[in-house]
Amino acid sequence: MKVLVINAGSSSLKYQLLKTKSGEVLAKGNADRIGLDNSFIKHSRNGEEIKVIPVVLADHTDAIKAVIKVLTDKGTGVIKSLKEIEAVGHRVVHGGEKFSTSVLITPEIKVAIKACIPLAPLHNPPNITGIEACEAAMPNIPQVAVFDTAFHQTMPPKAFMYALPYEVYEEHKVRRYGFHGTSHAYVAKRAAELLGKPFVSLKLVTCHLGNGSSIAAVKHGECIDTSMGLTPLAGVCMGTRCGDIDPAIVTFLMQKEGLDAKGIDNLMNKKSGVAGISGVSSDFRDLEDASEKGNERAELALQMFEYQCKKFIGAYAAAMGGLDAVVFTAGIGENVHRVRANIIAGLEFLGMKLDTEKNKARGVEAVISTDDSNTTILMIPTNEELAIAMATEAICSKK
Ligand code: AMP
Repeated sequence: MKVLVINAGSSSLKYQLLKTKSGEVLAKGNADRIGLDNSFIKHSRNGEEIKVIPVVLADHTDAIKAVIKVLTDKGTGVIKSLKEIEAVGHRVVHGGEKFSTSVLITPEIKVAIKACIPLAPLHNPPNITGIEACEAAMPNIPQVAVFDTAFHQTMPPKAFMYALPYEVYEEHKVRRYGFHGTSHAYVAKRAAELLGKPFVSLKLVTCHLGNGSSIAAVKHGECIDTSMGLTPLAGVCMGTRCGDIDPAIVTFLMQKEGLDAKGIDNLMNKKSGVAGISGVSSDFRDLEDASEKGNERAELALQMFEYQCKKFIGAYAAAMGGLDAVVFTAGIGENVHRVRANIIAGLEFLGMKLDTEKNKARGVEAVISTDDSNTTILMIPTNEELAIAMATEAICSKK
């Protein structure tokens, strides 16, 4: 099936047209600076060099029209007409408690996605805009919503509840939701395939370590806990996000620094994490360079990240009563061997033995533990677009 995958942000719209069976990417790109001046599409076809095409993108409807044009154009296109697109899969960040799987989009589903806006005020509105723009441009093509939160909906209450007054959960739906669900689900299922064992028989920890990082405990095919929470600010420290901190720091700093809600939110989301600690960068390439040149704060930031990831693996092994495999994925998980090595170091008591040679691999599917390691350590490049396309196909074939 040829599926167009759409990831709509507030001023950009990423797209990928792919074949689900082979995973072949026919074309991909990004319509950028929507609603701003100097907007453009960055488009690449069949892995060819990226073309930057200037276009006027007043809104998301313009962006979708421009994407369809580059996909069908004689010079840049890969399909003759829109009819070749069999379905559109939309990444939707927050599905609240309502969505535990992907769904075919109907007017009622859109109302339910809109009801989740208070939980993801920056993400769900552009996701909806992207859906409506596609509906207008491709009225006869099925549209499917694939939620970042859905995979984590199997968590039991003891894992997803916060010890706040129960009414806070009832009235405001304050609870742990978790994110990166499409990625965790994809690499966990792929791990089972690579291990040659049924997904439902395994106890896995999946580490999605990128600019945003989250870790999930996947027991017998279901997520039972994850590090991100009500929002993607929780869990391990990240590029610019603080991760878990003593919650009292929020009011303490608001008073000391005279910050309002927006100010403290900005400090925790944009000025913290490894960037805030190192004063160097949010990018692990820069941190490694700086650390190698003797920058102690860059080294401290790396060590904090590694230590926090290690603790989650230990906690989740305890939560699941064992561990068959640990999976690393995303920008850092797939590329930074020192981070993987330092996370695993000291976890030998959980049956893990890292193979330092195999651990030098980058961006490929690989077993990086030794042959006699009881717990397998895997590196699996994530492919959220393919996962969204496959989920879209699964929903469409049920119709
Ligand atoms: P993601 O959010 O999955 O795209 O991951 C992006 C982050 O991964 C970047 O900010 C870097 O910290 C890290 N990263 C990506 N590629 C590399 C690389 N080749 N070497 C080191 N870190 C990398």
